[in-house]
Amino acid sequence: MTQLTRRGFIEAAAATSAGAAALWTGGFSSAWAAAARTAPRGKPVAESLGNRLALITGGGGNVLALGSDDGGALLVDGGNAAASAAVLKLALGAVDAKQVRTLFNTHWHPDQTGSNAALGKQGAQIIAQENTRLWLTRKINADWLPQPHPAFPKQAQPNKTFYTTDKLDFGGEQLAFGHLGQAHTDGDIHVYLPKANVLAAGGVVSSQGWPLLDWQTGGWIGGLVGAYDRLMKVANDSTRVIPANGPVIGVAELKEYREMYFAIFDRCVALLIKGMSPDEAVAEKPAKEFEEKWGESGEFVRAAFKSLWGHYAPDA
Ligand SMILES: [Zn+2]
Repeated sequence: MTQLTRRGFIEAAAATSAGAAALWTGGFSSAWAAAARTAPRGKPVAESLGNRLALITGGGGNVLALGSDDGGALLVDGGNAAASAAVLKLALGAVDAKQVRTLFNTHWHPDQTGSNAALGKQGAQIIAQENTRLWLTRKINADWLPQPHPAFPKQAQPNKTFYTTDKLDFGGEQLAFGHLGQAHTDGDIHVYLPKANVLAAGGVVSSQGWPLLDWQTGGWIGGLVGAYDRLMKVANDSTRVIPANGPVIGVAELKEYREMYFAIFDRCVALLIKGMSPDEAVAEKPAKEFEEKWGESGEFVRAAFKSLWGHYAPDA
């Protein structure tokens, strides 16, 4: 996807302080730190996608903002907690709105749910798949977290949930959103804006380095492939796809990533059935030919392999 230009950039009025950013990324595991290293440094920026639609990057995960004529804004994801104030200010300015009325959480991760507390307090509607709400009501342990993720206070939890698909009218768009199954987590969703032909794909898509595969909250490599199949049913040849991390892509990249994840899935199943351990599977380098583009694959392969444990068993 190359139609976007840098012309629409609007600088953040309030920068995330370097101290807060350091505090936020300081204790995280290598996967998290690697993601933080590749994220744009400094302050979040907004890029216009046309028609009161904007993309805010550099404040955690990508944030999509849509404005309406009555001064309301809708966000798909809210960035991380450290950048929340800057992201919200920037998003409102970029779509010429006064208040965020609706927030989607594409999944429970901190890079997506960092504005839940502020917006929940203001009375915003927070929409998520029911599994995402359930995760946010409890303490979460996962290998990649430096410490358990605490339950969100009631006010910051999603207050409108769905199971499969739903629709919402906002800002002249009839947004269509749906569950992507067990993929990056077990609560991933996509949000499609048909008029703008923009598809927010959430954590299932990263166009910037290997993604986290959060098998401990229900993600798995086979489901990730299935999620791409669902996204490709929604997208068409001119759809702009917004990943959780990295630049905007098109349907050609969705197809490319789907084939890559399928190859890794297929090989990891074969290694598991042979009775290999995660270390042995990583040593087999089942993602070797993708490393030139995506970087060292060990961490992703390890998570992909472990993610099979709930779905396959070695041959006895
Ligand atoms: Zn995520």
